[in-house]
Parts: sequence; C-alpha cells; structure tokens
Amino acid sequence: MLPISVQLFQLSPRHESILAEARDLAESVRPFAIEADECSDLHVPTLAALRDSRLSEIVVPATYGGRFENVDSLAVCLARQACMKVSSHLDALFALQGIGSYAIAIAGADALCREWLPGVASGEILAALAVTEPEAGSDLRSVTTTVTDHGDHLSLSGRKSFISNAPVAGFFTTLARESQPAADGKAVLSLVLVPAGTQGVSVAPSPEIIAPHVLGEVTFANVRLAPEMRLGPPGGGLGNVLSVLSVFRSSVAGAAVGLMEGALEIAALHAAERRQFGRPLVRIGPVAGLLADSWADLESTRLLAYSAANAASADPASSLDRSSLAKLAATEAASRVVDRCVQVMGRWGLIRGSKIEQYYRQARPMRIYEGTSEVLRLGVAARLCREAAEAR
Ligand SMILES: Cc1cc2nc3c(=O)[nH]c(=O)nc-3n(C[C@H](O)[C@H](O)[C@H](O)COP(=O)(O)OP(=O)(O)OC[C@H]3O[C@@H](n4cnc5c(N)ncnc54)[C@H](O)[C@@H]3O)c2cc1C
Repeated sequence: MLPISVQLFQLSPRHESILAEARDLAESVRPFAIEADECSDLHVPTLAALRDSRLSEIVVPATYGGRFENVDSLAVCLARQACMKVSSHLDALFALQGIGSYAIAIAGADALCREWLPGVASGEILAALAVTEPEAGSDLRSVTTTVTDHGDHLSLSGRKSFISNAPVAGFFTTLARESQPAADGKAVLSLVLVPAGTQGVSVAPSPEIIAPHVLGEVTFANVRLAPEMRLGPPGGGLGNVLSVLSVFRSSVAGAAVGLMEGALEIAALHAAERRQFGRPLVRIGPVAGLLADSWADLESTRLLAYSAANAASADPASSLDRSSLAKLAATEAASRVVDRCVQVMGRWGLIRGSKIEQYYRQARPMRIYEGTSEVLRLGVAARLCREAAEAR
C-alpha cells in the first residue's frame, strides 16, 4: 500500500464499495490503457470493459435503469478518480455517460427517459453534450445553433465543435437558441435531444489534441425533430446545463485527484530507487520538496473534491460554486503536481508514450473543459464576496 492512499475523509460503505468497483474496472483495462489513451477513436476493448462492469449505472437515476435513486456526485467523483488514474479514455467514456444524459433525466418527458436512459446506464448507447460552437466557447449565451418551433415539429440548424464522443454518440443533448426571442429581445436557450441517426446530422473529426480524446465537429442541417425532443419548456436550456455542471463538475476534481495519485506514485517509486551523489533522490532536499509539496496538493484537493461532491450529492442546486472551487483547485494542482513529478524523474519523465508523459499531457485539457480556470475564478470570487458581505 502506497503512502499516498492515506484516507483523511471517512467514506460511507456505499462510497467505499463504488471506489472498489471502479478500481476493479480500471485494473481490467490497465493492460491496454497506454494504447487506449493515445486513441482519438473509440477504443473498443475499453468500452467493452465499461459495459461489462455496469459502472455507468451510477450516472442514471434508478427509475430509468440506473443504480441509485438520484445521481450521487461523490460516487461519480470517486469512480472518476479510479478510472483516470489508470486510463483517461476510460474516464472520459464513463464521465460522458452522465454529462451527456443527465439533462434528459431531469428535464425530459418520462417516455423520452424510458427510451434513452436504460441504454446509457448499460453503456449500450453513448451520450454526448453538445454546447460549444466554433464561435461560442466560455460564453454559452452566444450559441447560434437555432431551434425553430413549427407547432407539429421542431427544426434545428447549426454547428457544434469539440464535442466528446461525437463520432460514436447515440444522441446529442444540444444547446440551441429558439428562433423566437423573448419579448425583451433576449435569447431564449433550450436543450434539444437529437438522435445521432436523424437525417441532417453529420459528424467530422475535430483537430487532434495533445491528449487524444474522442472528439467531433457536429453539423445540424435543418434537422426535423418531434416537439417532445425539447427538454422541458423553451428557455430552460441554460439552467439545465448548469444543473449538469452542479452534479458533474466536482467529478472533474475527482479525475484530477486520480491523475495526481498516479503521477505521484510513479515519481515516488523513482525517487526511492534512483541514487545520485551516493543517496536516493528522495534524500536530496529539493527533490524531497517536490514530492512533499505534491503530496500536500494531492491530499488537500482530495478533501476539497470529496466535500464539494458530497455537498452536490445532497443538494446539487446550491453546490455549483463549491464544485467550481474544487474543479479549479484540483485541476490547477494536477498540472503543478505532474510537472513536479516529471522533474523528479529527470530524463525518464520525458519519454514519449510513458505513463508519466501521458499524465503530463492529460492534465492540461482539464483546466479548459467544463469551465476554464479563468471563468471559474470569476464565479468563485463573486460567491466569496457575497458570502463575506452576508457574514458581516
Ligand atoms: C478535451 C475536450 C473535450 C471537450 N468536450 C466538450 C463536449 O463534450 N461538449 C462541449 O460542448 N464542449 C466540449 N469541449 C469544449 C470546451 O467546453 C471549451 O473548450 C471550453 O468551454 C472553453 O471554450 P473555448 O475553448 O472556446 O475557449 P474561450 O472561451 O475562447 O476562452 C479562451 C481563453 O479566454 C479565457 N476567457 C474567456 N472568457 C473569459 C472571461 N469572461 N473571463 C476570463 N477569462 C475568459 C478562457 O479562460 C481561456 O483562457 C471540450 C474541450 C476539450 C479540450
């Protein structure tokens, strides 16, 4: 047992059991994880392992084939920690099942949930959340994909960019603006469920990124949809996206914790074994400092991630700022930690395709997706000032 597995946060038996289950799944993909993590296409054995494990059940409510009555953010956070430590491809496949489908569970009509969610829970259907556009990134309100209500049907046109799972998704939960603006001229945003096989939907590859990821550019060309494919009434789109983030953002922190655990284990073993100047690297002060500071980063952000996720499990609606704080702290820490770990390992930290080098690349996008660090800081700082004013 490695020292960094020290548990400061008392997990419930349910959460201990999810962590153990996710670790078993992660171990089952370890033999091909390095290969899977270099794939920009679906890595089929990794998906097969996820399906066999049935871990995706925890991101769907029990009524629709899931495991627990409600999606439990702490369970998702722990599962991502275990998955990411071994394989970013596995982590992404698992996480997207929840991120892509949760809005259906909270805002979709019962029949729609019954049609789509059991397949998500079993892993037979892969989910995608399509928000980002070529011109709309952090500024979600500026999306131009447009949904027009014709009474007996909807039509959808626009382009989405950098959409995880796009080439293999069964559906796209898509943020669009209603063609009819509000009376005050403001955009009315809605989420629309678009089955991938619908006429007018096409997917092209996104550019390759430094840490390969299954991504695609999606075009909706006058896609005709039944009116009930809009999730909830017109105008609920942004609120539903925020609900998705409330439940799942803390899990990015969990994934960052898993990445830090993995990187630090590799660096710690190296520092204990390699000798320079007649002693192990760990006995050379500056190297020990790199390891100790990294462990402090890991354990402090672990506590923040677990407590934010625990709060989100109990009350997602009021936990978004805490989850943002956890995501901000843990993903920034992951970049620092993996950079120090590479430094501890000297030239062996730089070998292309090694696990430590993969971690180094994989840490980087975490500070960009699901809310960039800068945008999170804006929300977190505003919350801080509000709380300070209320406490006065
Ligand atoms: C691996 C990966 C997977 C992804 N998967 C999906 C997906 O499944 N679905 C999806 O919809 N999108 C997805 N995305 C897109 C992702 O959500 C966007 O990249 C992200 O929202 C940032 O948008 P942007 O890249 O356009 O950057 P921009 O919004 O253009 O930001 C550029 C820079 O400006 C800063 N900035 C922007 N606005 C502000 C502000 N108001 N204050 C301070 N700083 C600001 C940002 O922090 C950043 O540093 C994915 C991206 C990646 C890398």
